[in-house]
Amino acid sequence: MFNSLPEVSCAAELYFNNRFPGYRLKQYRTEESGRFCFILEPSELGVICPKCQQYCLRFKDTRTLTVLDYDNGAGGPCVVLIPRRRLRCRCKCTATEPMPSWILPKHRITVRLAAFAQHLLNLRVSISDVAALTGIDWDLLKEIDKSALELRFKNKDLGRVKRLAIDEISIHKKHQFATVFMDLENREILEVIKGKSIENIRPFFERLKADNFAENIQSVSVDMNAAYPKVIKEYLGNAKLAYDLFHVMQHFTTDVLKEAKKHSIAQARQTDRELKPRDKTIEAKQELSIAVSTVKNAEWLVVTDPSLLTPEKVEKLQRLRAVNRLFSDLYPLAAKLRLIWRSLSQEVARNELQETIELCEVIALEHDFKPIQKFAGMLKRRAEGIVNACRVGLGTNILEGANNTAKVIKRLAYGFKDFEYFKYTSFGQSSWNTPSIFIEAT
Ligand SMILES: [Zn+2]
Repeated sequence: MFNSLPEVSCAAELYFNNRFPGYRLKQYRTEESGRFCFILEPSELGVICPKCQQYCLRFKDTRTLTVLDYDNGAGGPCVVLIPRRRLRCRCKCTATEPMPSWILPKHRITVRLAAFAQHLLNLRVSISDVAALTGIDWDLLKEIDKSALELRFKNKDLGRVKRLAIDEISIHKKHQFATVFMDLENREILEVIKGKSIENIRPFFERLKADNFAENIQSVSVDMNAAYPKVIKEYLGNAKLAYDLFHVMQHFTTDVLKEAKKHSIAQARQTDRELKPRDKTIEAKQELSIAVSTVKNAEWLVVTDPSLLTPEKVEKLQRLRAVNRLFSDLYPLAAKLRLIWRSLSQEVARNELQETIELCEVIALEHDFKPIQKFAGMLKRRAEGIVNACRVGLGTNILEGANNTAKVIKRLAYGFKDFEYFKYTSFGQSSWNTPSIFIEAT
């Protein structure tokens, strides 16, 4: 159904002239879907020929371009039909008249609609929701979001960074990694780089050096496994290397406790195999099943701060320690590790560390359990960085924030195929960032 506008009011005319410069509203109609459709006509009879620069009034033909727009008065998403005239100029030019500036170049949406979509995306409304609301194609929305994020986050100012944290995260299943750089004091993600090798991360340090910010860095918190110490020494002469408790606990869990679980189960099975058939009593069978069942979630029970355990879990832990001698001996290590980072002075931290290493070595001998010896070796090699962690004196909440941020980014990574887009999204979406970043208008 068409509605022509013979007596369009002055206000409406003004509104549409401002809305679609160079055009005026000829007709409007409501589509079957309920969507409004505005049909425009050129407000000028002719156009300047792009070739001869003369005012040209002769046209070969006219085509119609359909463009998506958004208008609150029209109930949201709407369609605009724009005539596109092809010249037949005296100079033989047959170019199509220039595209109006209010249409997003190379796309069939208005700049206004793109800005509205971008605003929603900045509020972290999901692309799918914005697509449903505006009718814009998913891929285009992704490009809009990506370029806005890129504009905002490209070349972050590194001038105020004093305490740096570097973390490597696995981003896809097939051993793909990314390295995350964070400013601990300002709680901000500075950079996310694909890969984790020295060559991958060198450009970040080169940038710090080129901008003369390298000497501002006072401390760098890193994961113990990584190959960073060399590159940090090379670029950040003033920085103290520090290993945080979270990462050490992580290693303790994976490299020691999980291995201890396997070790315990293997040992119980071995004992069971060695029994002569006549000794295979019901009690002996029960012993094997108890040995296997008590180590369930053992690593979690051991590393969790005892004050956070429910009475039921405390009971499980007690049972584990009563049944399993290896776990019983490993148990105090978790508390000892926490003590190192809670030390009030480096002197105390150094002593605590020394005692912990000695305890590890005793357990290794006693149980003929290699993983704990390896762990002790790592503590020894990284002693300086561990003791430094006390001098760096960052609150646990800050490091925990950094650690959680890395986790958020890791989870986020699974949904992205485009690394650059993932990187900029992680800058904007981290729970660690100050909220002002989300509502900044563009
Ligand atoms: Zn011409």
